Amino acid sequence: MDNLNAIVEFFNLRTILVLALVFVPLERILHLHEDQKILRQTLSVDAIYFFVIAQITRLGLGLVTLVAMAGVNLVMPAAVGDAIRSQHLVLQVIEALVIADIGLYLAHRMFHAVPLLWRFHAVHHSSEQLDWMSAYRVHPVDQVLTKAISLLPIFALGYSTEAVAILFVIQTAHAVLVHANIRIGFGPLKWLLVTPQFHHWHHANERQAYDKNFAAQLAFLDWLGGTMHLPGKSYPKAYGADDAPPVDQPLRQLADPFLPRPKPDSPPQTAE
Ligand SMILES: [Zn+2]
Ligand SMILES: [Zn+2]
Repeated sequence: MDNLNAIVEFFNLRTILVLALVFVPLERILHLHEDQKILRQTLSVDAIYFFVIAQITRLGLGLVTLVAMAGVNLVMPAAVGDAIRSQHLVLQVIEALVIADIGLYLAHRMFHAVPLLWRFHAVHHSSEQLDWMSAYRVHPVDQVLTKAISLLPIFALGYSTEAVAILFVIQTAHAVLVHANIRIGFGPLKWLLVTPQFHHWHHANERQAYDKNFAAQLAFLDWLGGTMHLPGKSYPKAYGADDAPPVDQPLRQLADPFLPRPKPDSPPQTAE
């Protein structure tokens, strides 16, 4: 299935080599937090996510997509796919980007709001320093569910393989860019597109930024949803979440959502 090949491109070795060639020099030239090293302490944890844990995600995504699409193919009229694919490729990519990002926004917001789902998503928020590799630190359950919610409508509607492939290149490069340790402005486009500043605030361990900036590509979705936090040109000073699993223990991070929690004596903290 061609779309399955596109879905795993995020975890492709060639992809990460190209990204490293682009982002390592960029982080040296445009660095945001000057004292942060390229070879930071927990980089190896994110590398484990890319090389090892991503294989679990890959399998899960493949399985969920195959099962879901078998169901969709039974009910979706072929004429829908024909009409979608008859559009110009650029139009298909733009539509797919909007549909996928609405799904990502809703899924991401849900992962912050539902305590059980937050346990999985807290792994992504365990990073206390952000750089381009931080994009890969995602629990497989989080990654599979989020991607399934955002991408299954694209597959179900029958967007062309080329449109899906371009969507994936954009999503992958952009996800890495917004985590990077770089200071780069998008001008007025920052109200339309997610910038590094926008996503860095999502990772901020600062009260005013909790549960804000959920969109992956299209910042205006947060404006529409009343969840945008973009204070001037400032960036957060601290990243992470108080209830996230330990930043440097990938096995503990994988197991953490399944471990029993002590009964709280006081009201639970707001999820970040
Ligand atoms: Zn989040
Ligand atoms: Zn992130």
